[in-house]
Amino acid sequence: MPDLSMPAPLTQFSEEEQMFRESVREFAQAKIGPHVHSMDQAGKFEPDLLRQFFDMNLMGIEIPEAYGGAGCGFFMSILAVEELSRVDASAGVIVDVQNTLVNNALMRWGNDTQRSRYLPQMASGTLGAYALSEAGSGSDAFALTTRAELKGDRYILNGQKLWITNAAEADLFILFATVDPALGYKGITAFIVEKSFPGFQVGKKEDKLGIRASSTCELVLENCEVPRENILGEVGKGYKVSIETLNEGRIGIGAQMVGLASGALESGIQYAKGREQFGQPIARFQAIQFQIAELATQLEAARLLVYNAARLKDARLPFVKEAAMTKYFSSQVAEKVTSQVLEIFGGYGYTKDYPAEKYFRDSKIGKIYEGTSFMQLQTIAKLVMGDR
Ligand SMILES: Cc1cc2nc3c(=O)[nH]c(=O)nc-3n(C[C@H](O)[C@H](O)[C@H](O)COP(=O)(O)OP(=O)(O)OC[C@H]3O[C@@H](n4cnc5c(N)ncnc54)[C@H](O)[C@@H]3O)c2cc1C
Repeated sequence: MPDLSMPAPLTQFSEEEQMFRESVREFAQAKIGPHVHSMDQAGKFEPDLLRQFFDMNLMGIEIPEAYGGAGCGFFMSILAVEELSRVDASAGVIVDVQNTLVNNALMRWGNDTQRSRYLPQMASGTLGAYALSEAGSGSDAFALTTRAELKGDRYILNGQKLWITNAAEADLFILFATVDPALGYKGITAFIVEKSFPGFQVGKKEDKLGIRASSTCELVLENCEVPRENILGEVGKGYKVSIETLNEGRIGIGAQMVGLASGALESGIQYAKGREQFGQPIARFQAIQFQIAELATQLEAARLLVYNAARLKDARLPFVKEAAMTKYFSSQVAEKVTSQVLEIFGGYGYTKDYPAEKYFRDSKIGKIYEGTSFMQLQTIAKLVMGDR
């Protein structure tokens, strides 16, 4: 029997967590697995799988049961993203954006009317997207230029967003615009934008290196009419909405990276046991064993960072530094694991007949979105060094 008077090890799950993790793992293997290759080739996610995410309550994990969600904690979202990404990192990011960015922003900053209107939709069938970046403002997110002007009872939005995950399939967007560029970051305001609002359009879809089944699109706002009551939080407080949601989102990206690195490593181990050279499985060579041991150790460290940051968040303890470290380290580990696993597959790893090359391509995004690795280092440095 475990000693319950001791703090629990990070990798110890409650019964509920254990069951949830197993059900997502089985679902991912059985239902997503068969489509991974074709979705990657087509650059399109299976709409039926998206429907199944909702049916399994994976799209409203933290939404309270009163609004139709699963009423679970943040750690469960992290487990879902990890398990889905083990099979397909595109599936992982779709669920990640919905739960850790969009739903979180609505739950935290939405007023009662907004919560009652939107949370049941998010839990039951509406896919969400999070639109901060623009062509000229990525790392420098608060240099955004999309303009929002109040005219009567509505804001008129003009501008363009770039790189928006889930945009092709989404019906609801948390979108950031400035009410007055002269105010700098204090002009930035978050809006809840429905796809059907006049003047809103989804533009070009990117043809990407990895996570190809996850849509990434431009958004075009031409005199887009957003009712005044769709401001999320307060006018001029959008910077706070974005910083705080992205802090949580980064733990999700850490989980995506750990998940895909686990999937890659498992496939590498399996391959090494079956592939024979010099009359024996290559898994018998110490060089292969040591590589796998090294990667497994790095992966374990990354997973502990992810779990600790998520548990800190659920415990309402400070987690910003840990979240930045999680994303920084996990994306580094994922790149290393997937790259070395590809080499374990030899020439076959370089082809699309085996999963290694896709894991490698998918890993690369971890160092870029939701703040590049340099941006994470900047946050970590600030928090560990104070005033420099
Ligand atoms: C597939 C994909 C999905 C995405 N999904 C979304 C989404 O859903 N919503 C959304 O809003 N955005 C999304 N993004 C945008 C993403 O967050 C940005 O691409 C990212 O923040 C980097 O911005 P940038 O591309 O403009 O690069 P830049 O900011 O131009 O950076 C270029 C390089 O300069 C470095 N750099 C920049 N500033 C500094 C500095 N001060 N010190 C040191 N180095 C620096 C960066 O680290 C990077 O190496 C997505 C991007 C991709 C590729």
